Amino acid sequence: MLETIDKNLVTFIGAGPGDPELVTRKGWQRLGEADVVLFDALLDLDGFKKAAPCARWVNVGKRVGQISTAQSFISKSIVNLALRGYRIVRLKGGDPAVFGRMTEEMDACKAANLKYEIIPGVTAASSCAAELGISLTQREVSRSVTFLTPRTSKRNFSSDHWVSSALSSDTVVLYMAGIELPTIAQTLISRGKDPKTPVALVESASLRSKKYVTTLQRCTKELQHGDGGPITVLMGEVVRSAHEPCELFETPVVIQKARLK
Ligand code: SAH
Repeated sequence: MLETIDKNLVTFIGAGPGDPELVTRKGWQRLGEADVVLFDALLDLDGFKKAAPCARWVNVGKRVGQISTAQSFISKSIVNLALRGYRIVRLKGGDPAVFGRMTEEMDACKAANLKYEIIPGVTAASSCAAELGISLTQREVSRSVTFLTPRTSKRNFSSDHWVSSALSSDTVVLYMAGIELPTIAQTLISRGKDPKTPVALVESASLRSKKYVTTLQRCTKELQHGDGGPITVLMGEVVRSAHEPCELFETPVVIQKARLK
């Protein structure tokens, strides 16, 4: 049962990977009740706007390597607008709790005594697995999956932290890693990861997606890929079942949708 929201309630909504149809029903309803929507970079902004055509839509998106909105500004904006009595939706890409800096924004709400709720979304890992037609935890092949990013605020993690996580998991999903993939691949191989490890790159999952399958070794060189959309890298034996026939390309190949089951 979907109830009506309180005033001053801040709602964090997972927008999913891009296709507005992947937002939950509850998320879509909350969007419709919003006065102001503070949104991340979205692959189909117009599609989302259909949920709340009368709301004010404010872009506070960040993209790796591009000019971004400061996190402190986003947190302050949420609080200031909510205190003025507006119904705020904070629409975050994927799932708000996965590499989404949601804690900072929740803490700002808590400090201002604002109520908030979280409506989860489809994270990039799930959407990319669906695009490839694979299971991240395929029985007999992978009993662990790690979501990680080599990007960190340098204060909290040593540069080795992500490497040990990547080496100890059967399936590894790397967020925010497309640009630095050659360095990442070199580092993992030098620390003992099999150069033949299958790797998939998925760009703009759920909308105009492109998929590439290759090996870790091949990733040490610059790959010709992409239209500039968000990229997620998936590593591990599960990638072998990405398409029929189960062939592994030494050179990255765009997998056409028609070839997927
Ligand atoms: N909260 C988001 C992740 C934000 S970090 C989530 O749960 O998905 C941003 C990273 O997410 C990008 O650099 C990319 O690695 C990944 N990503 C987001 N949308 C994507 C998409 N449509 N296709 C592929 N990767 C995506």
